[in-house]
Amino acid sequence: MLAGELALAGVDVAIVERRTSQDLDGSRGGGLHSRTIEVLDQRGIADRFLSAGEEHPNTGYALIPLNISDFPTRHNYLLALWQSRFEPILADWIDELGVPVLRGREVVGFAQDDTGVDVQLSGDTSLRAEYLVGCDGGRSLIRKAAGIDFVGLDPSTSWMIAEVEMDEEPEFGMRRDSVGTHGLAPIENGGLVRVVLTERDVGHTDDPSMSELREALVGVYGTDYGLRSANWISRFTDMARQAASYRHGRVLLAGDAAHVHPPQGGQGLNTGVQDAVNLGWKLAQVVNKTSPESLLDTYHAERHPVGARVLHNTMAQVALTTPDDRHQALHTTMTELLSMDEPRKRIAAMISALDIHYDLGEGHPLLGQRMPDLDLHTADGPRRVFALLHDARPVLLNLGEPGGFDISPWENRVRLVDARNDGGWELPVLGEVAAPPAVVIRPDGHVAWVGELTDPALPDALTYWFGKPLEAHSRQGTPSES
Ligand SMILES: Cc1cc2nc3c(=O)[nH]c(=O)nc-3n(C[C@H](O)[C@H](O)[C@H](O)COP(=O)(O)OP(=O)(O)OC[C@H]3O[C@@H](n4cnc5c(N)ncnc54)[C@H](O)[C@@H]3O)c2cc1C
Repeated sequence: MLAGELALAGVDVAIVERRTSQDLDGSRGGGLHSRTIEVLDQRGIADRFLSAGEEHPNTGYALIPLNISDFPTRHNYLLALWQSRFEPILADWIDELGVPVLRGREVVGFAQDDTGVDVQLSGDTSLRAEYLVGCDGGRSLIRKAAGIDFVGLDPSTSWMIAEVEMDEEPEFGMRRDSVGTHGLAPIENGGLVRVVLTERDVGHTDDPSMSELREALVGVYGTDYGLRSANWISRFTDMARQAASYRHGRVLLAGDAAHVHPPQGGQGLNTGVQDAVNLGWKLAQVVNKTSPESLLDTYHAERHPVGARVLHNTMAQVALTTPDDRHQALHTTMTELLSMDEPRKRIAAMISALDIHYDLGEGHPLLGQRMPDLDLHTADGPRRVFALLHDARPVLLNLGEPGGFDISPWENRVRLVDARNDGGWELPVLGEVAAPPAVVIRPDGHVAWVGELTDPALPDALTYWFGKPLEAHSRQGTPSES
């Protein structure tokens, strides 16, 4: 995702990937939450994922279904789409944007200086880059080599996960015992069964063997159901750790390299995609020399709290799904609470990441929120707000009388759109908010400024987020040049 964002902004970017193909062993993550679908929609590529997945009206928290069909978004559902299908679709987009992927190559080290980073690759070769972003997963070599602490909790529970063929049809569904919660589910097409088993011990470092899986199945179900083969066996834990800093000089972190947590609520991949969309335009502007390096510090300032909140809510979900009687009493209480509207909306908006609010100071309730995808009337006809963001450029959306602000000092970066909107403004959780006269929308879809075009703070906001105004003589077609 990050490579796509950078390529859209004209940055020379390459991906180094040790896997030789996009194939994943195992289907891994199970779905996309509303905000992730929205950010894909902001780039005009949501349909590719929607046509491959299946919409469900419920998201979930600690196995408690939460209906989100009344949420004020076009994507008021969870999209069931395995990561093994999500990744190739995203990779096709990157390919269309012409991003080179150096497959079968591994980053083995790097050294940064004042002007760039020398990245050492396997095979005794190297690359020189202005910036290096570690999107290299929970065991990130880049994070470790940058000396960034990975702060948090060691695992308290370990789960075995597998996709297997069995001779007999097993008992599908969840089962709880004194060890934990276990589950068996059919995987569509192909007759495979997904197995998740709570283990008796933590502290394993390798993937489990077939005989360990068999033994664990017999331990829980009294049978291995004629276990024949496995196309994926792995483990995950409830370890919850986060990088102390998302940036060290010219090295940044995104995705699991920046945060790992239990998979409850299915937020890992989603959070990583949204990290990338927050970082992409900022890094592009710094590389393109329109913004100072300090803009990169807003990446940590905005995304670290989001990651911390994901760690926190997954820790709570692990506690709520612990099978002993006391935790189950808590789970029952929580289920009752979440059947009420306001708690349901709050928790579901958190899991679907629709409530993310970056702290951009005091002001209109929209400030720092994601911009809703309103229907607009423009001089070019009807437009959705998200369609204005397809090229990942910022927009000054004027909903009042046209004119009244000279955009020419930023015209090479910011698009001014005059539009009318007849509908109401409803935000997830917050509800109706007053219609603003004008808003500045960042390329990631978050609102950076709200007010009247005559507001003296508008030029400052444009300069802060998108760089200094062009001098009059360097603008094309301005009266001073003509
Ligand atoms: C059982 C399970 C269920 C999950 N369910 C969900 C879910 O429903 N929803 C959700 O959002 N998330 C889910 N997740 C989490 C999700 O799988 C991860 O958050 C996601 O894969 C992280 O993506 P990433 O790109 O940051 O890291 P990774 O997917 O780990 O990708 C890192 C990439 O970097 C490459 N790499 C690593 N080191 C190097 C190197 N030195 N040089 C070159 N390449 C390197 C790797 O080959 C890999 O391709 C689940 C995870 C598990 C284990």
